[in-house]
Amino acid sequence: MSDEKDPKNPIEELQKNLQDILKQGKGFMPFPGGGLGNMGAAAPTGNEPAIEKPEEDDPERDEILQRIRDFNFKPKEIRDYLDRFVIQQKEAKKVISVAICDHYNHVRSCLKNPEIQKKDYAKQNTILLGPTGVGKTYLMRNVAKLIGVPFVKADATKFSETGYVGGDVEDLVRDLVKAANGDVELAQYGIIYIDEIDKVANSSNQSGGRDVSGRGVQINLLKLMEETDVNLQSQTDIMGQMQAMMNMGSGSKKQQPKSINTRHMLFIVSGAFVTMEDAIKKRIKNTSLGFGQSPEDMEDRDSYLNEAETKDFIDYGFEPEFVGRLPVRVACNPLQSSDLLEILKTSEGSILNQYISDFSGYEIDLNISEDSLHEIAAKAYKEKTGARGLLTVLERVFRNYKFELPSTSIKKLDIEKEAVLDPDTSLKRLLKENMTDQRGVLQAEIRAFTQRFAEKYSFTLKFTYDAVETLIDESIDTDKTIRALCEKKFRDFHHGLTLISRNTGQIEFEINKTVVQNSEKELSSWVVASYRGTDNTTSQ
Ligand code: ADP
Repeated sequence: MSDEKDPKNPIEELQKNLQDILKQGKGFMPFPGGGLGNMGAAAPTGNEPAIEKPEEDDPERDEILQRIRDFNFKPKEIRDYLDRFVIQQKEAKKVISVAICDHYNHVRSCLKNPEIQKKDYAKQNTILLGPTGVGKTYLMRNVAKLIGVPFVKADATKFSETGYVGGDVEDLVRDLVKAANGDVELAQYGIIYIDEIDKVANSSNQSGGRDVSGRGVQINLLKLMEETDVNLQSQTDIMGQMQAMMNMGSGSKKQQPKSINTRHMLFIVSGAFVTMEDAIKKRIKNTSLGFGQSPEDMEDRDSYLNEAETKDFIDYGFEPEFVGRLPVRVACNPLQSSDLLEILKTSEGSILNQYISDFSGYEIDLNISEDSLHEIAAKAYKEKTGARGLLTVLERVFRNYKFELPSTSIKKLDIEKEAVLDPDTSLKRLLKENMTDQRGVLQAEIRAFTQRFAEKYSFTLKFTYDAVETLIDESIDTDKTIRALCEKKFRDFHHGLTLISRNTGQIEFEINKTVVQNSEKELSSWVVASYRGTDNTTSQ
């Protein structure tokens, strides 16, 4: 009787086979176009989360869960925290802080007394309106960070009614579990953020919406926002299903639940609602003109979206039930140039800090004058993409500095207004001023090359003064690093020098200007001479 034929535990057998398949890679598809138990469903989109097993006995996780159970923030404390990162958006901060406190206070009460769960409660799901790049996502990300709950963001446009073509809205919930490192318990209290919600308006109600399937997406989202159990394993996620089978009976102390309830998740939807803003503007202007206000007065308003009423959303193409599940509504205002300046200077998450830290990675100390900050903010404002404009402008200003400076001896970079207006000219000037020092840096790079060469091949290359100058000139003229030039010019030297050394015992070689200019030709003449017994090299 052979050992291999011994009856084995069928689950173990299956697990082993699946392990092998998984190891072989992603291309495996046991049933064309479908999940294991759902033939004919959509192929995996690649977005399916792998549900991992949470760390057991993780004190940090226990602390976060405890913090949720003991939630005791006051709205003003949340607002103050948000103030550290988000500039302006006073009303949105206030409304969100209250909604967050109400939501997590309710969660806490339900956890203490599950009977409360049975009572009606209008969840604080929120619509955040406003243009792009003004801090809508940033607000919610920071809130989630403060409370310690997982956060996921997706665009509503990626979902389809059936989940076959685009994604399935339930993927959002599974992504939340992934964001919580597979911790289903923690994921229950997470925040789901859905952007571009205005794109799933029903186009038959208005122009600019997607199509009727938008209605289907709204209905699916409605279920999630209310309360539903979501299967942790997507029907289209074959890998995840196999993983789950492998985990079966794997001796895990803690069995993962099969589904997750969305009762305590908070949903935030957002969108620019441009045409809706126009409609509200028209309505308000018409009414207020009747009360003696001039159109100019109205232009001062922050955002007409703050005046949005349920009817506006329905007219825009939303199902009344859908809007009904989103009782909290607030608009974020467009950011002015002065706000962008403020973001640069005071937000703890200012993108400028990232640039400062990027340069300090090369030990370069970046200083930006007040004038330049004004100029950056003004340019960013013209981009009309909110704070995202700052990113565009900074990238443009610093792109070549980031490329050039790390290879120079420059350790201090002072950015003045001219550098923002014309970064290339300022950079050229800086590099020119630094030219003397730069030759020193390039000399050191030649020394580094000879050192590496000696360590690797045990031959000493001695560069003459002329050779060094020629190489440096070539490096500057061609904008190639010394390293690249040397590696190209002396690529075959170790072969040639080994032959010479065998013939003559020579291990030290002088590199003069002619060798630098014509390395291959000079090397072959050295090799030929070593066979003839004549010495063509200068050094012994
Ligand atoms: P959106 O309103 O489109 O959701 P985001 O919140 O994603 O825009 O903003 C993009 C980035 O711009 C943020 O990550 C943040 O760095 C910056 N930002 C946007 N608005 C603000 C703001 N009001 N205060 C500080 N930074 C902001």
